[in-house]
Amino acid sequence: MKESWKIETQAIQGGYSPEATQPRILPIIQSTTFKYDSAEHVAKLFDLDAADHMYSRISNPTTAGFEGKIALMEGGVAALATSAGQAASTLAILNICRSGQHVVAASTLYGGTYSLFANTLPKMGIEVTFIDPNASAEQIKAAFRAETRALFAETIGNPGLNILDFEKFAAVAKAKQVPLIIDNTFATPFLCRPLEHGANIVVHSATKYIDGHATSVGGVIVDGGNFDWSNGRFPELTEPDPSYHGLRYVEKFGPLAYIVKARVQLMRDLGTCPAPMNSFLFNLGLETLPLRMERHSENALKLARFLAQHPKVSWVNYPGLENHPSYQLAKRYLPKGCSGVLTFGIKGGVESGAKFMENCRLVALVVHVGDARSCTLHPASTTHRQLTEQQQSASGVTPDLIRISVGIEHIDDIIADVDQALLNS
Ligand code: PLP
Repeated sequence: MKESWKIETQAIQGGYSPEATQPRILPIIQSTTFKYDSAEHVAKLFDLDAADHMYSRISNPTTAGFEGKIALMEGGVAALATSAGQAASTLAILNICRSGQHVVAASTLYGGTYSLFANTLPKMGIEVTFIDPNASAEQIKAAFRAETRALFAETIGNPGLNILDFEKFAAVAKAKQVPLIIDNTFATPFLCRPLEHGANIVVHSATKYIDGHATSVGGVIVDGGNFDWSNGRFPELTEPDPSYHGLRYVEKFGPLAYIVKARVQLMRDLGTCPAPMNSFLFNLGLETLPLRMERHSENALKLARFLAQHPKVSWVNYPGLENHPSYQLAKRYLPKGCSGVLTFGIKGGVESGAKFMENCRLVALVVHVGDARSCTLHPASTTHRQLTEQQQSASGVTPDLIRISVGIEHIDDIIADVDQALLNS
């Protein structure tokens, strides 16, 4: 029944259902361990014959509340929360890729994910080929190898703000018999549900809109339960796992095989679990996610339109604007809005960009996106200042680029602040 609720209802009522006399609100179970009455019960837990909580690295009741809710909202079968968005992407890949195997990924990824794929995964023997998301299906297929085990992309690219052509990517993944893994951080399930467009696994940096108030770093993996792991390419899911007395994940857990393996094998061994307090805050954040995403999107579109006619602005990048290259894809996949992040070019280059940030009063200079407060960053004079201009432009950062994560304050106040900061820059 919860599956048929509207997402606004799922956000409030999903995940945690108290019995009579239990707390109305998902409690913070700040406990590493759980008590049992029999050795047999504990043995069953270790053999994965019982699903109760055992140790908070592997599962925790507060975290389970958050996981259940986000899985419901994304339309997946189950979820695994992690200590950061980076941990979610790492586990999502490591769960199906080993040394000697390969991933194809869109080149327009968040810088941290790009670095994970370009530098750290190769050190573990996993190579990643980056492709232009605008390339044709045939060109993307050409990047695949016999050892390729996943196709990875973002719904809304960070910071390029290009919208993914799900139809094309899902068709390529299907033809190549690998899962399509989507980072849905910027869109959130309120604006787009990638599993409905052919994705198989969804990851999030919960640090952004899911938390929504910039209190906690975290991530989550949602399993669509819709990929055939027994197609001969994923023996780690179909063949015996020696670390569980020869258990076979697909045989024992069916559509939950991927997410159960990620939890009981990788989370057990790597330990990138969230603190219960953070899971509590992510669950609380989800309750207002639909309302916030509506306002973020509305405010960002209004600010984008304002900037588009401003004399100090040379260009504006927001997929909700009719002249944006992704506008048609945005209408198709993000009909409720294009989220809260936009970029624009300030006339006067690096110097004006730095001045703009200093001139802002309400829109704070913060290295973050996706929380209730508006914030801004001028990458050329901050995050990307060590790079040459050439390196900056290869990563999509021009000297004049300003990024604003538009918050949910009143739009008149946001516009007034941006206007005065621009005019004085
Ligand atoms: N994915 C996207 C799209 C992001 O923007 C970020 C962080 O900014 C991450 C993943 C990484 O998440 P975290 O900072 O929670 O590790």
